[in-house]
Amino acid sequence: MNQYDAIKKQDEEVFSAIAGEEEREAQGLELIPSENYVSRAVREAQASILTNKYAEGYPGKRYYGGQEFTDAVEVLAIERAKKLFNAKYANVQAHSGANANIAMYFALLQPGDTVLGMDLSHGGHLTHGHPVTYITKFFNFVRYKMKDADTGEIDYDDMLRVAKEAKPKIVLAGFSAYSRELDYAKFVAIAREVGAYAVIDIAHIAGLIAGGAAKNPFDYGFAVMTSTTHKTLRGPRGGLILVRDSEEIAKKIDKAIFPGLQGGPLMHIIAAKAVAFGEALDPSFKTYAEQILLNAKAMEAVFRAHNIRMLGGGTSNHLILADVFGSLGIPGKEAEGVLDSVGITLNKNVIADDTRGALDPSGIRFGTPAITTRGFKEGECAQVAEYMVDALLHKDDAAHLSGIRATITELCTRFPIPETFV
Ligand SMILES: *Cc1c(COP(=O)(O)O)cnc(C)c1O
Repeated sequence: MNQYDAIKKQDEEVFSAIAGEEEREAQGLELIPSENYVSRAVREAQASILTNKYAEGYPGKRYYGGQEFTDAVEVLAIERAKKLFNAKYANVQAHSGANANIAMYFALLQPGDTVLGMDLSHGGHLTHGHPVTYITKFFNFVRYKMKDADTGEIDYDDMLRVAKEAKPKIVLAGFSAYSRELDYAKFVAIAREVGAYAVIDIAHIAGLIAGGAAKNPFDYGFAVMTSTTHKTLRGPRGGLILVRDSEEIAKKIDKAIFPGLQGGPLMHIIAAKAVAFGEALDPSFKTYAEQILLNAKAMEAVFRAHNIRMLGGGTSNHLILADVFGSLGIPGKEAEGVLDSVGITLNKNVIADDTRGALDPSGIRFGTPAITTRGFKEGECAQVAEYMVDALLHKDDAAHLSGIRATITELCTRFPIPETFV
């Protein structure tokens, strides 16, 4: 804890919140599939004095002086991102995944234009046109869905029909609660057929792609990829936009981020992105990405053995969406609470065409990126899945639950959160 000496001395209230979170992360298992543990090097970059600097503009084209080192660090982040994803252009300034998507929409669309994206209860993300988001005041969103929620296959015929009817300018792939691979060639073919940009939001699977454990959508003809840097990619909280090869699109993206939507870039975060991309370029990251998938498969096998329905019939990536209400009669919210009480953090989630509301849906969503960083292999992951099912089956037995809590604490002690990965 000695890295917080100054805060501890100066601001006891903030220190106690940070210390509490540190303890919570150390003592519990993080199964939220969009979370991860960053390295000490990433945290050092985020805490660096680069936070002091205004650097509006781009390397070599800034609005203020004194940019020798900000330029150097942003160029490093850009070059490493390009190499990781085989992109010709990268913008590393988006403050978050949501900002990256908003910039992408404004770069490629005129107000009133249409986007064809994944239905939100079938796995799509809030930023893909949920009615509560203000982006829907500017653009029109239409939907594709799974053909069969138990195989996860997308209904590509219906997708083409909707595309022909709605004439979208963007065909948007990508998801936050979908456990199978998409047929990238079909997305690109549909986009070409209606003259739309093929775009994919890889926020959840960026680390799997960077580590070579999942296909690279650029190999199938996608023009643009948006992402976060803090999920499977294991970097600081932030956004990223990659352009396969079009200089024209890359210029529009840069303009949309700055001056279109953002002010000064967060140079300390960009430094941390550069560090994280450096880690992801290391051969050890390939092993990490592959282990994420093996671990998810190990958890899938346990849920299958207990006859718990998984959306998509299982998983081909880092996450599982389980229908705990349909299979065990336990609503998602209650399941989230029971598992939280034994030290397992995950989230309730809607399932395809959920008959329950978004605030108390039928499913839970969980994944392996963080526990894989922690060093778990298939054996530990299968054990964790068994504890999850055991806890749900004994949800009203306090003594039983506290026994599981003790076992989880012991497991956490055996696997401390690591500080370096390369
Ligand atoms: C997480 C996520 C985002 C949003 O990222 P933030 O950094 O939280 O704004 C966007 N798209 C998808 C698919 C995501 O999973």
